[in-house]
Amino acid sequence: MNCSKDQHFSQGTLTPFGKIEVNPSSGILNYGQGLFEGLKAHRTANGRILLFRPEENAMRMKVGAKRMCMQAPTVEQFVNAVKQTVHSNKRWVPPPGKGAMYIRPLLMGSGPVLGVAPASEYTFITYASPVGNYHKGVLNLIVEEKFRRAIPGGTGGVKAVTNYAIIYKPIAEAKAKGFTDVLFLNAEKYIEEVSTTNIFLVKGNEILTPPTSGTILPGITRKSIIEITHVLGYQVKERAIPVGELFDAEEVFCTGTAVGVNSVNSITYQDTRIAYKRGAGTVGQKLYEMLTGIQTGRIEDKMGWTVELD
Ligand code: PMP
Repeated sequence: MNCSKDQHFSQGTLTPFGKIEVNPSSGILNYGQGLFEGLKAHRTANGRILLFRPEENAMRMKVGAKRMCMQAPTVEQFVNAVKQTVHSNKRWVPPPGKGAMYIRPLLMGSGPVLGVAPASEYTFITYASPVGNYHKGVLNLIVEEKFRRAIPGGTGGVKAVTNYAIIYKPIAEAKAKGFTDVLFLNAEKYIEEVSTTNIFLVKGNEILTPPTSGTILPGITRKSIIEITHVLGYQVKERAIPVGELFDAEEVFCTGTAVGVNSVNSITYQDTRIAYKRGAGTVGQKLYEMLTGIQTGRIEDKMGWTVELD
């Protein structure tokens, strides 16, 4: 089984959104050999269209491809495909304040394979859809101890498609009890992440977030927040956080492409509901303003994060 065959992608084509043909014995259908990404394009007040750090998504897909024994597109191929997809759907990018264009790059083992082995061929697709503004949702989380999202040595640290169907049940159970989403722990009862967002705790002058040591997805929003938080006079400490520290935090917020930065209203742990500060003046709110300001061109992008569409 060779994980590192040197192959290349042939040039793709732009087609109207529709069905694709999949080989019944493909790696993706039989063994879940697939990875995806998610990023957004925003329209600025003066009509420009900005992508946010697309090369970070490309690099994360490359890391994931190594773990999943797949052939990945180069950073350039990835970013070009994303740009072309947005370009050809330009008119659907919502006006400022009305949401964004969400782009979904998808890499799959498309070649036939009968035994448990990497597929012989890979297909890379990008598609896009306008999305609304998710930020306004109130987050009431429940700590899940019965289920794990990831295990050490597994694929929790990459964006494998197989990481997601396994959280449907914990999310469904949380929703049935009236919660919005699940906060996952590891086996040692340390905080990991929420189903599609990373988590941060604010304790006095400290902002804490768990390290991405293999079982947590290294979010691009998480990385960006760590890089800009010093502007507000804070420094983020990446360290293991025992679940008990949820009781000492004044504020908790989640980060991800879909939500940007979303303050958490409450977390329920073993039947105790812990409420957090939200709204005006909170660190989460300030970071949300800063991040979305850069993403939408309202705030000057001193970090060089945005990529303008030609
Ligand atoms: N964790 C998981 C499991 C996710 O699926 C996502 C969404 N990609 C995130 C965290 C946040 O990552 P990002 O900031 O890159 O969207």
